[in-house]
Amino acid sequence: SRAKLYQPDQGPRTTFADVAGIEEVEQEVTEIVDFLRDQERYRRLGAQIPHGVLLSGPPGTGKTLLARAVAGEAEVPFFSMSASEFIEMIVGVGASRVRDLFEQAKKVAPAIIFIDELDAIGRARGGAQSIGGSDEREQTLNQILTEMDGFTGSEGVVVLAATNRAEILDQALLRPGRFDRRVTVSPPDLAGRQQILAVHTRGVPVAPDVNLQNVAAATPGMVGADLKNLVNEAALLAARRRRDTVGQADFSDALEKIVLGTVRGIMLTP
Ligand code: ATP
Repeated sequence: SRAKLYQPDQGPRTTFADVAGIEEVEQEVTEIVDFLRDQERYRRLGAQIPHGVLLSGPPGTGKTLLARAVAGEAEVPFFSMSASEFIEMIVGVGASRVRDLFEQAKKVAPAIIFIDELDAIGRARGGAQSIGGSDEREQTLNQILTEMDGFTGSEGVVVLAATNRAEILDQALLRPGRFDRRVTVSPPDLAGRQQILAVHTRGVPVAPDVNLQNVAAATPGMVGADLKNLVNEAALLAARRRRDTVGQADFSDALEKIVLGTVRGIMLTP
């Protein structure tokens, strides 16, 4: 018999307060939160709730964070799994793992299933070299589609998936009743970066000479994950310098270190 593999996340609750700089995107998923909180109201009106929502955007823009926040706001269990995990495992178990995952989620519904890196199994069939062998990948993908097609709407399970390569996905995934909602998560603009920096400095004693707007202006192209890392590097420098607060110099030096590190990394790549 198969061991029970899937359990909801036990980590601290994530809410929209933890997500910054992508407000339009938050609004698009608010409907899902509302449904998960009060399914009965939707059902009475015969409203069809989306089975699947595809979050697409570059790495580090907060797709996983947003999915977690939807679960946190709705106060429902969050089951998370990376698509590459399905197929990196022993051959032949991908489909049964998918079945397990949906089974566990339905048991405790309302719930969210989050599938990260959907493109690892969801790329168009017949494409170039796929990880884990194409049979395994296809069986796993087919099982996900079967599960979603089987939703009657009364399960109270919504599947969120993330990809940074939406263009290579199998069109079958995007059909009605599957991932028929698409939400694009873009890198933050100047104001967005400032808001993200504000979130990640919440627990950090920042010196009065630090102007987060200036830090945001100095970090074009950086996404949420980069900005979080920047704040942490600055705090590490301040600690090493035996300061009580994180100052402007710590931010500047951390930024320089990160940018130089990136440049050096690129130059050393054969
Ligand atoms: P990937 O495609 O690499 O999985 P992702 O888009 O799912 O990336 P996350 O894993 O959610 O990105 O981001 C990593 C971390 O960066 C988050 O846990 C969070 O701390 C921070 N972060 C990213 N985006 C944001 C944001 N918009 N607001 C606040 N923090 C963010």
